[in-house]
Amino acid sequence: MTTSYLKEGRRKPGSEWIKNRTRFLERAYHLTRTVFNRLYPPGKRFAPGLTEKLVIWSEKIVKGYVFNCQMCGQCILHSTGMTCPMTCPKNIRNGPCGGVRANGHCEVIPERLCVWVQAWERSHQSRQYAGEMRVIQPPVNRMLEGTASWINMAEGRDKVPF
Ligand code: SF4
Repeated sequence: MTTSYLKEGRRKPGSEWIKNRTRFLERAYHLTRTVFNRLYPPGKRFAPGLTEKLVIWSEKIVKGYVFNCQMCGQCILHSTGMTCPMTCPKNIRNGPCGGVRANGHCEVIPERLCVWVQAWERSHQSRQYAGEMRVIQPPVNRMLEGTASWINMAEGRDKVPF
């Protein structure tokens, strides 16, 4: 099996340097949340379709670059050391899987570090969310794939069991 078959194993575009700046990313997350909470209600009222398109587009561009976001629509970045769990080739939401190698690399893509080893290490840099790393996450809801995680969070859709 080669990495080209594994979209989730993709680590580019993006910068490992940025991904390792957990505190900076946390601050960016708080700022984004504040701005989104202000702009989303009027956007939803006056131009819901356009607002949704803009949010999806910006998530694809910004989170796609910074986190290799796979657009699962149910973002738990702040609970996983600002490391996207969907870039794990197995897409597991609670890791590591048990196949992680002694050197901390992935059993599916041996040349890469395990996403969950990175998440664990980065979570220790977190000021506010380090404890969330131990929270058991529910299975990802595939019905939300391709939708805007910020909107799903605002509407509570990301908390609804499926
Ligand atoms: S929305 Fe899902 S796929 Fe995208 S960064 Fe967040 S957890 Fe990863």
